[in-house]
Amino acid sequence: LAKRERHTVRRFQAALSTAALERLELEQALRAGIDRDELRLHYQPIVDAQTLTPVALEALVRWQHPALGLLPPGRFIPVAESSDLIVALGDWVLREACRQLTLWRAQWPALRMTVNVAPRQFAQPGFAEQVLTLLADAGLPADALILEVTEGAVMDEGGVPHEAAMGHTGLTLALDDFGTGYSSISRLHQLPAQWLKIDRSLIQAEGSAGSSVRPARPIVRALITFAHEAGLRVVAEGVEHPEQLEDLQTWGCDLIQGYLIARPTAPELLSLPALYNRN
Ligand code: C2E
Ligand code: CA
Ligand code: CA
Ligand code: CA
Repeated sequence: LAKRERHTVRRFQAALSTAALERLELEQALRAGIDRDELRLHYQPIVDAQTLTPVALEALVRWQHPALGLLPPGRFIPVAESSDLIVALGDWVLREACRQLTLWRAQWPALRMTVNVAPRQFAQPGFAEQVLTLLADAGLPADALILEVTEGAVMDEGGVPHEAAMGHTGLTLALDDFGTGYSSISRLHQLPAQWLKIDRSLIQAEGSAGSSVRPARPIVRALITFAHEAGLRVVAEGVEHPEQLEDLQTWGCDLIQGYLIARPTAPELLSLPALYNRN
């Protein structure tokens, strides 16, 4: 028995160090990849729920790996987030998103951009000032950019907003993935954000009406009502079916994002004119 236990422990240690090694290798490869300009941004439209006209684009990062092809963020963001690498990566994303937005705004001056900001990135001292400088350098007003953050990044455990999340910077915050974790409707009015993004798990949840594509009716409906009372604009994420869009329109949801409208797309392939002229 003792021998078997020792064997199990050794195997466990071997597995552990393999995982740690792979992590380290991935981190080093990503660092090199950023230096070699292998990151790409794809853009997904966020449209007005009634007119379906683009209001903003969400920038979503990918890694064009020389051997493995185009990697989704799920493959490398977690590793980046566990180190300071996320700060360099996030900085690149912000710059590239602003550069691209400046080009598009020449044609559509009201178009905005949303960028995902990791908790560690948001917590960097002077982060808000850095973003404002970046915007000024790109010739963009502060309201051109919306920072997508999670509840944990902007609030402490007691529900008190962090200093950087306070409104004095003029930057717009969107609370991402609302409805996952321990989000609470009663805290909506305390959120230091202007937009609320309802997570796609709620939008795609099975409805009580028997149809599998109807959003989790009572929850989403109540969320929209409470968010509006708190002065927030509501974005529904992961809208894939016309029935979901119909429900969300009926309930007064402000903005829609999902495969039904468009998938995240490389900038050279994204057809903004078609999205603007679909009515
Ligand atoms: P997220 O911020 O919640 O982004 C939405 C994800 O849902 C994207 O996955 C998008 O492709 C996907 N999606 C959009 N519409 C639909 C739909 O109708 N159906 C389904 N099934 N999925 C849909 P993606 O691009 O793989 O990004 C995954 C996550 O990676 C993001 O989740 C975000 O948390 C993170 N991420 C992406 N880009 C960045 C970045 O630049 N910085 C940081 N820190 N995180 C990023
Ligand atoms: Ca997001
Ligand atoms: Ca989200
Ligand atoms: Ca998500």
